[in-house]
Parts: sequence; structure tokens; C-alpha cells
Amino acid sequence: MLPFVNIHTHYLSESTSVISIKNVIAGREEVPVNHYFSIGVHPWYLNVKPQVSMNDILKNPLCLAIGECGLDLQKSILQKNPISIQKFVFEEQIILSNQYQKPLIIHCVKCFDQLLHIRKSLPALQPWIIHGYNKNPKISQALLKAGFYISFGTLIFKSKTLQESLKLMPIDKLFLETDDQQNYNIEAVYLQAAKLLEISLSELKFQIFENFKTVFHPAQLKKNMYL
Ligand SMILES: [Zn+2]
Repeated sequence: MLPFVNIHTHYLSESTSVISIKNVIAGREEVPVNHYFSIGVHPWYLNVKPQVSMNDILKNPLCLAIGECGLDLQKSILQKNPISIQKFVFEEQIILSNQYQKPLIIHCVKCFDQLLHIRKSLPALQPWIIHGYNKNPKISQALLKAGFYISFGTLIFKSKTLQESLKLMPIDKLFLETDDQQNYNIEAVYLQAAKLLEISLSELKFQIFENFKTVFHPAQLKKNMYL
């Protein structure tokens, strides 16, 4: 049986049918033992210096990605973390991503133009994945054209616009996630996505597992976590 893959969750999973990547907020949360994780400086919490604290952690083979990191232009966030500082920290993590050959999981709120600009102006040597995507098909097209992967979460149950975006997704650029939602499991997100894409659950599981292997290179995957 192919596993379900949850590329971004704030909780640990003990299910043997799910491979999940636990998000770790650098400087605020512990790195999990025996569980895949991603680690990054979240734009809400810019209180750590990533180069100093993250280099050792990034050598851990269970660390599959850098993130979530990125930019957030909500007023309440900008008041404490100005855009210039957010950009500086984000760029530090892009450098780490290139250096350690790990993909980036990106948090982007109200600033897709700037993100596209950064992607074009810096060397981006690794895959970049927009997590918790909630935008319209026009923005998806611009992101896909620039080479991004896009990860959809539980909003695909509610947002009509997002459902339209998902329907138009090439499935080799698609990921799914549950993020901080505890009332949904990843199996339900897969079922809803398969319905919207008009493909079978097994086809979706196959393709996302392929995407997972292509993007995250989980070479150290334990046998019992795989199957
Ligand atoms: Zn998250």
C-alpha cells in the first residue's frame, strides 16, 4: 500500500499509513526524534539567528526541508517584524536551502508578487513549495510558471476559488497537508482533492508519493516508515 504524504503538519503522526513532515519553528520548538521534520524561522517569530542555530540541525537526515519560512504582510505582523527584516531572514534561509540541498516550505501572506520577484532575483537551486495555498487560479498559474510546487490544505473543503485552483493543478506539482488543523486528517484531504481533480484515490496517492520522493529525497527513510 502506498502511503499518504502530509508535507506540512504541526503535529506528530504515529500512523503507519502516513508519512508526515512535522514543522518545527526554529528557536521555539524541539526537533522530533525518529520523525521527519522541516525547520525554519517563521516570519511571525524572527527572534533567532538561523545560521547559528540551524547548521547542525540541517545535517540531520530526518530534516527534509527548510521552512516554514517566508513573508507575511499582515498589518499586525508588519508592526513587530518589518518587511526589510523578514526579507533578510528569508534570504538567509534560501542560502541554507541551496547550501544543504533541501527544499523550501514557504509561508506567504499578501505578497506573492514579492515572492516571485525574489525567486527570479536570487539563485533558487532547490524546489520551492508554497504551503497552505489559498489563492485563485491566476496566481497559481504565475507560481507554476515560475517553477513552484503548491500545497493545498483543509481550505479545499470550503473555498470555491481554491477548489477552482486545485482543479487546474498539474498533479506533478501538487502536495497536500493538514497544517495546524486537528479536526481533519490527511486521508480526508486526499479524498476531497481526488474528487475535485476527478482522479482515483490510488492515482493521487501514487503521484504525490512520486512528487515527495522527487522533491524531498528521503534517502534515509526507514523501511517501516515507507510501507
Ligand atoms: Zn504551518
